[in-house]
Amino acid sequence: MSDEERERSAAERREALKEVFQQARTCTRCPELAATRKTVVFGAGNADAELMFVGEAPGASEDEQGVPFVGRAGKLLETLLGEIGLSRSQVFIANVLKCRPPGNRDPLPVEIDNCQQYLRRQVELIQPTVICTLGNFSTKLLRGDPTGITRLHGQPEVLVLGTRAVRLYPIYHPAAALYTPRMLETLREDFMRIPELLAQGAPEQPPIEPIPELADEPAEDLPTPASGASAQQAGQTPPAVDQLGLF
Ligand code: URA
Repeated sequence: MSDEERERSAAERREALKEVFQQARTCTRCPELAATRKTVVFGAGNADAELMFVGEAPGASEDEQGVPFVGRAGKLLETLLGEIGLSRSQVFIANVLKCRPPGNRDPLPVEIDNCQQYLRRQVELIQPTVICTLGNFSTKLLRGDPTGITRLHGQPEVLVLGTRAVRLYPIYHPAAALYTPRMLETLREDFMRIPELLAQGAPEQPPIEPIPELADEPAEDLPTPASGASAQQAGQTPPAVDQLGLF
């Protein structure tokens, strides 16, 4: 990111985020996911949020609605946010994978790899101070290390992601906490520390170095409205406008 880009206004960064969404919504890098998804669930919330959450992947409800964390785990996330005086519209919520894995299976390593450019670009453009990784997949991806959430939850660390230093804060995934009261208790305790982390403000930023933009696919591979996913197979354009209003 250039000096200029870092200084870009929130409005400009939001416009750039929309462009990344436009690329993601017709993505066919994971042929199975592209063929079985209903929507690409890019993310939702405040595009200039101080606090960002990163979950695993959309489930059935998210795939239907095009919005992350709208099922039971999402309701719990919303409740916990409310307990620290925040609402969904103040934070940005995204996932490691933007498409639902069929049958809610775990994301495959190749899918995580294919999709991570979108998440990294989201982080660069939203410029959050704190990123809460929810569960193992996002924690391992963003830390670049296989250490699991059981060992790491509740321990903030400063991490450089692309060009941005952020406070990474791994916590349990709300879906796991739904079924385990002790985990819910721990998740709630960890959540209560989020305001204190936000109050610390942004960590010192690394020196600025130019980085490449999100790579375009080679021209012949560019997704077209008629390629890839189910909606596209029917020759329809996926519903972008609704999701653009989400952030
Ligand atoms: N819903 C999401 O959007 N992500 C998850 O990780 C779980 C449920």
